[in-house]
Amino acid sequence: MNFFSTRGKIPASFAQAALAGLAPDGGLFVPAEIPRYRNAVKNSLGSMSFHEIAFETIKPFVEGGIEDAALEELIAGAFSFEAPLIDAGKFAVLELFHGPTAAFKDFGARFMARAFACLRRGESRPLRILVATSGDTGGAVADGFFGVEGISVTVLYPGGRVSELQKKQIAGLGGNISALEVDGSFDDCQALVKAAFRDRELTEKLALSSANSINIARLIPQTVYYAAAAGRALTGRADPDGAATPRVSAGTNAAGTALKAGEKVTMAVPSGNFGNLTAGLYAYAMGAPIAGFIAATNINKTIPEYLESGEYKTRVSKATISNAMDVGAPSNFERMNAHWSLEELRRVIRGVSVNDDDTRAAISAVHRGYGYFLDPHGAVGWRAAERMPVDGPLAVLGTAHPAKFAETVEPLAGALPVPASIAKAMARTAAAKNIPNKLEALREFLLA
Ligand SMILES: *Cc1c(COP(=O)(O)O)cnc(C)c1O
Repeated sequence: MNFFSTRGKIPASFAQAALAGLAPDGGLFVPAEIPRYRNAVKNSLGSMSFHEIAFETIKPFVEGGIEDAALEELIAGAFSFEAPLIDAGKFAVLELFHGPTAAFKDFGARFMARAFACLRRGESRPLRILVATSGDTGGAVADGFFGVEGISVTVLYPGGRVSELQKKQIAGLGGNISALEVDGSFDDCQALVKAAFRDRELTEKLALSSANSINIARLIPQTVYYAAAAGRALTGRADPDGAATPRVSAGTNAAGTALKAGEKVTMAVPSGNFGNLTAGLYAYAMGAPIAGFIAATNINKTIPEYLESGEYKTRVSKATISNAMDVGAPSNFERMNAHWSLEELRRVIRGVSVNDDDTRAAISAVHRGYGYFLDPHGAVGWRAAERMPVDGPLAVLGTAHPAKFAETVEPLAGALPVPASIAKAMARTAAAKNIPNKLEALREFLLA
């Protein structure tokens, strides 16, 4: 499959698109066309295993870059945890937080890391990946690349502005992952990374790459869970609770009321940069049995406003309790816009913006009513779904485990179960190197 920049016409292979991240013209890579599932696959999504669905979904995108056997191995390594579609009473929840950093970004990061290793087989120079993070992405990328041969990762994060857990997820692994705590803001970290990529000496001496959220190799694997969940929903049967399902007592409300056999599901997607929703649109275009989407944002409502008014106006982001979605200029809009017109988007997506009070109210009400703990991002999705009633079943994407946001959730819903992944990360010791907000300090570190 060829990929094109959203801004240009020069084709790139999957390997080129993935390893470059951003296109040379500053655009985002998109597939030349969106493949479609064969009928045999489309009709058996409800009975195939997650790994089988992953193979069928990803194969056409990486054809020519990753061989079948390598892809199978890659999938088994990357998706080593479950993504259950559970019945939470009124709605189903697609739990995407059973991975090592307890958020859906594990799917993209783990796949991308292994794809990089696979595409670079035979290269002698080790790849040095630089990532700036405000918290969550850094942890998922660090964990995704941890122990991957031939690649090392340096994560830059703003000192004093990430949580204790995030710090341990980023700086507690060691090995091929190093962490730099920068005296500055997230924007400063990002500016340092950009400056490093422009530095002649660094780019000549090191094989530098980025692993940011706009990489197409992070988006493609996310289509898999949409297809798997849509197929499962159509059977009318929810999955059993997973090991980290945050329910007061397992099974209390697994009455099987959220789904209905033969009815296509609508997915409510808590969104910030809109990578997750774009992956959902790919799954839809491939033929997964999805009725439509609710684009659920917090008060940073650039896309819901665009869907309503037809005008795309970015703005400075505002801080909320669903902070992984505090985005005023969603980078994946450029992708959505490259594939679909406003009218086409309106036919499948409805936008809803939810404020912090309503998000908190949803966390309390869902806990009280169904014994289920939502995290603030999932709660935005849940509340949005309530505001936008649809015919047929509805699944909210649980993008993070609520224990990641215990300081918000516990005052509203009481003591939370802590999943093994978080307990494991908290037991680590963070070892970051402190650097001033100066390119020279980053250069010194990288060239040492
Ligand atoms: C990153 C993130 C989101 C937003 O996903 P996008 O793909 O940027 O729209 C939502 N919830 C959580 C918990 C996240 O970490």
